Amino acid sequence: MTDWDALLVSLGLCPSSRPVRPAEVRAAQADRVRRQRQLRAERGLPADDPRHGKPSTYTNWGCRCPKCRAANTADVAPRMAALRERRRLAA
Ligand SMILES: [Zn+2]
Repeated sequence: MTDWDALLVSLGLCPSSRPVRPAEVRAAQADRVRRQRQLRAERGLPADDPRHGKPSTYTNWGCRCPKCRAANTADVAPRMAALRERRRLAA
């Protein structure tokens, strides 16, 4: 059991049953996702594609149409507010 698992158990939560992936496996997967996003961004989505208006389309397809930008802004806003609050408290 890792320290993280022990912390989860102490909070009454279940630790993950998935084994921790080695750093090189995580790096390889991050690399694959990066390449995939780059290829999708180069291909682009047709304007009438139903996937517009989702934060995942902003991220994975690099779409910057108004609908995808608005979806991403709404998705990121709570995390950005939390980050600003943490920085404010740390200052
Ligand atoms: Zn879009």
